[in-house]
Amino acid sequence: MDLTTPINNLPKIGTVTTKALHQLHIQTVKDVLFFFPYRYLDFRKTIAINEAHEGEVVTIKAVLKDIQIRRSFRSHMTYCEGVISDETGSMKVVWFNQPYLAKSLQKGESLLLSGKVDRYKILQLVNPVYERLTDESIHTGRLVPVYRASDSIPNRTLRTVIHHCLPLIELLPDTLPNSIRDTYNLVSLPDAIRSLHFPENNDSISAARFRIAFDDILPQQLAVSLLDISMRERKSHVIKTGVSHIKTFLKKLPFTLTAGQKQAVWNILQDMESPGPMNRLLQGDVGSGKTLIALIAMMQTAQNKLQSTLLAPTEILAQQHYKTFCGYLSSSLRIALLTANFASINNQAVSKAELNEAIQTGTVDIVIGTHAIIQKGVAFKNLALAVIDEQHRFGVKQRNFLFTDKANIQPHLLSMSATPIPRTLALAMYGNLTVSTLAEVPSGRKPIITKVIDDAQRNNAYTFIKQRLTAGEQTFIITPRVEDTEKSDVRSAKAEYKLLSETVFSKYSTGLIYGKMKGDEKEVIMNNFEQHAFDILVATSVIEIGIDIPNATVIVIEGAERFGLAQLHQLRGRVCRSDKQSYCFLFTTDPSQQDNERLRLFENSNDGFALAQYDLERRGFGDLLGTQQTGYLFRFPEFITMKALSSARQCAKTMVTEDPKLSSYPELNLIAQDYLDNVHAE
Ligand code: ADP
Ligand code: MG
Repeated sequence: MDLTTPINNLPKIGTVTTKALHQLHIQTVKDVLFFFPYRYLDFRKTIAINEAHEGEVVTIKAVLKDIQIRRSFRSHMTYCEGVISDETGSMKVVWFNQPYLAKSLQKGESLLLSGKVDRYKILQLVNPVYERLTDESIHTGRLVPVYRASDSIPNRTLRTVIHHCLPLIELLPDTLPNSIRDTYNLVSLPDAIRSLHFPENNDSISAARFRIAFDDILPQQLAVSLLDISMRERKSHVIKTGVSHIKTFLKKLPFTLTAGQKQAVWNILQDMESPGPMNRLLQGDVGSGKTLIALIAMMQTAQNKLQSTLLAPTEILAQQHYKTFCGYLSSSLRIALLTANFASINNQAVSKAELNEAIQTGTVDIVIGTHAIIQKGVAFKNLALAVIDEQHRFGVKQRNFLFTDKANIQPHLLSMSATPIPRTLALAMYGNLTVSTLAEVPSGRKPIITKVIDDAQRNNAYTFIKQRLTAGEQTFIITPRVEDTEKSDVRSAKAEYKLLSETVFSKYSTGLIYGKMKGDEKEVIMNNFEQHAFDILVATSVIEIGIDIPNATVIVIEGAERFGLAQLHQLRGRVCRSDKQSYCFLFTTDPSQQDNERLRLFENSNDGFALAQYDLERRGFGDLLGTQQTGYLFRFPEFITMKALSSARQCAKTMVTEDPKLSSYPELNLIAQDYLDNVHAE
C-alpha cells in the first residue's frame, strides 16, 4: 500500500463505501489523507459515572449491562435503550434512529462512550458515540474530527479509513524547504495532516490549518506575482475617450448616473487612455449599476475600433447582459453572444464557426458570453478590454486566458464583483490592482424589509405573499437543495414547487428552475418569468447572480441558516429592482436557528461589506469564496485566514523576486505554471 493505492484495495472497503468515497472525490490513499474535518467534538473530558452533570459533553468508560429496542408510545419511534455501569454507579443510555445497535453491541462489553449528558427525569447519556476498548481510541475520548460526508458514508467509517491510512503520511514529500518553513513558522506537512485528523489540542489544529492554507495559497500567489511581473512588461491599446460621444449617450438614459458610477467611469476611461494595462476591480452591491459602467467602457473601446469582451459566470447572466447591451447600444455596433448553447450577432443566430470567424476578422465589436469564450478556437483580432462579471467565480486559470494572448498586447482588465471583498483581501488575492467602489444604490429605491420568520407564522407570510401576487407582483422562493434526501429536513426546490403549486399557491402559477437544467431550458423559464408568464419562481441558488426582474418584490429563502451572509445578501438583491417596496422572508430548517445572531444581523443590515466582513471574521473564507461554485480559487477555503494569505503572498513575492524562473522550486513552479497555462474551462 502506498499513497497512490486506490481506496477499493483497502481492507474492509466494499462497493458501497467505495462509491460513497468516490462521490467525495476520494480515489486514492492520498485523497483520504487530504480529506479534512471541518470541526471537532471535544470528547476529551473523561469522567466516572458519578461525576456526570447535566449538559456536559463527556467520555465515560463503562460496561454495557443491558441493551434493548424500545418503541415510543406517542411518536411510534423506535430507539435503543441501554444501561452502563462503572465502579462508581450506573446510568441510562439512549440512542435514537440506530436500532441496529441492539444487535451489534453485546451485554458485558467494555465501551468508551462520548456524548452529552441530559436529564429526562433522570440523568442519561443521549446518542453517544461509542467504541470498544482498544489501544487507540478513534471515535471517543479525544478531539474527535467531524467530516463533511454524505448520507451514505458515516463519519465513523471515514474516521476508521483515515486512521488506517494515516501511517502513510510519512511517504508524503514536503513541498516546502526547511528555510521557508522556518521563516513562516510552518509545521511539516505530515505533522499538519496528522494533527487535523488526530489533534493533540486546539493549537495544533490551528497550526495545521495554517500550514494547509499556506500550501493552498502559495501557488496561486506565485502565479499572481509572476503575472504582475509579466503585466508590467506588456503593452496595451490606448483607448481614447470621446467625451462628447459619452455625453450624448448619457443624455439618452432615462436616469442620471450616481456619483459613484461617474467616478468609476472616469477612472476606467483614464486607465484605458494611459499607457500600460488597466487592472481594476469594480465593487458594488447588487443593483448598484455596474453593468452600465462596463457598457460605457466597452462602447468607448468599440468607438476606437477595438474589440472588447464581457465574461459572465452563467448562461442566464450572459443572456441578460446581451439583451441589455443590444437594447442600449445603437445598431451601428456589432454585438455577439457566445455561450455553450448559443451563438448570435445582433440578435441573429449564427453558427459557432461564423461567429469565430467574425471575432477573428474583427467584424464584431463586443462579445458577451460565458466560459465558452475562453474555449480554444476563439481568437480576437484586437481585444483591448476584457470585463469579468462576478469575477470571484473565475479561477486564476480562467481569468488568465486574457493574459496569455498570443499577440503580446495585454487587454485592459475590468473585474466586477457584488460580493464585497475587503480591499486588503482583494489585493492579496488578485495581485496589484486598483479598486473602484460603488457605495450607493441608485436613488428612488426603498430599502428591502427583511424578516426572519418563525415557522408558526409561515401561513401569515404566505397570506401576505398572496396579496402581493394579487397586486400583480412576483415572488422568488429559494431553497438550499434541488431534491429531498431521506435524512434531512432541508426543503428542496422540487418538493417545494410541487407542494406550493398544489396547495397554498394553487390559484397562482409557479415555475421551477435549478442549476442542472439545460441552458436553453433555463433561459426559457427565466424569460417567461420576466414576461410574467407565471407569478412564483421556485429556485435553488443558481439564480443567485444578477438576474433583473423588476416586478419581483418578494424573496423567500428557506434554510437560510445554511447560506453565508454574503450569499444571502446577493440573493436578497434579486428583489428591489424597481421603486416598489420589496421584502425578504427567511425561514430556518432548524427551529433553534431562529435566534441565530447572523440572521439577526442580516435582518438589520443592508450593508454588503459589513455582512461579508462579519462572516469573514467568524466563519473564515469558506462562505465568501463559495465552495459550491465552479471556478473557486482554493481547495480549502475554510482554512484560509487573512494571516495565511498575507504570509503566502509575502513568501511568493520574495521567491519570485529572488528567483524569477523559480528554478530552485521545480515542484511549486509546476503548480504555479498550471495556474498560468491551463486555460481550459470546464
Ligand atoms: P449590478 O451592479 O448588480 O450588476 P445592474 O447593473 O444590473 O446592477 O443594475 C441594476 C439596475 O439598475 C438595472 O436595471 C439598471 O438599468 C439600473 N440602473 C443602473 N444605474 C442606474 C442609475 N444611475 N439610476 C437608476 N437606475 C440605474
Ligand atoms: Mg451585475
